[in-house]
Amino acid sequence: MQDTYLHKGKRRNMVQALREKGISDERVLQALNDIPRHFYLDPAMNALAYEDRALPIFCEQTISQPSTVAFQSQLLEVKPNMKVLEIGTGSGYQTAVLCHLGAQVFTIERQKGLYDKTKPFLASQGFRARCYLGDGYKGLADSGYAPFDRIIITCGAPYIPQPLMDQLKMGGIMVIPVGEQQQEMLRIRKTDGEPEIETFGNCRFVPMLQGRQF
Ligand code: SAH
Repeated sequence: MQDTYLHKGKRRNMVQALREKGISDERVLQALNDIPRHFYLDPAMNALAYEDRALPIFCEQTISQPSTVAFQSQLLEVKPNMKVLEIGTGSGYQTAVLCHLGAQVFTIERQKGLYDKTKPFLASQGFRARCYLGDGYKGLADSGYAPFDRIIITCGAPYIPQPLMDQLKMGGIMVIPVGEQQQEMLRIRKTDGEPEIETFGNCRFVPMLQGRQF
């Protein structure tokens, strides 16, 4: 697949539109400017790749819209070398953004079809994320990599999974859309007392489902 001047131009416009929508983290904007989103989509979606829309990917899932990817990435306050756990690898686009921000990324997908496709694809793009096929509700407790500095959930969670809170470092941040049909975006900071929870409005994600799917 080619990254043409036309694609690059559309991406610059997309980033400008994100700025106008209030995304101010320059590192996040740079990542969205640099990563060809159309690579993460079916070629049939090429013309829509730089519109601010969620689009269908493999296995009846969706790639989040660029403003959601930018917003979640900004809320996450990623610094280089942080260990970041992502739930819902999907197309790998959000994973790529996290890698671009310099994080050490661990990402879990429950659908084998997506895992099989996205893992080699991310490697082919030079991103060294560690991809897992599994159930994001459980996190990566036994991997030896927990706890994580940051955890990002890219599917709609009916509640905050306790194993994920357990795998978050003290002082660490989790960004998670919580709710059934519709979700509210939460940023949770783990403290030695009650976690600090900030809310950032309503959003709509595909559901976070139990168990993995073969
Ligand atoms: N970050 C992705 C978003 C994909 S949509 C992207 O940029 O493309 C959300 C993804 O979460 C879907 O691929 C879905 O299969 C996955 N998912 C849903 N429940 C899950 C769970 N319990 N564990 C891991 N992945 C899950």
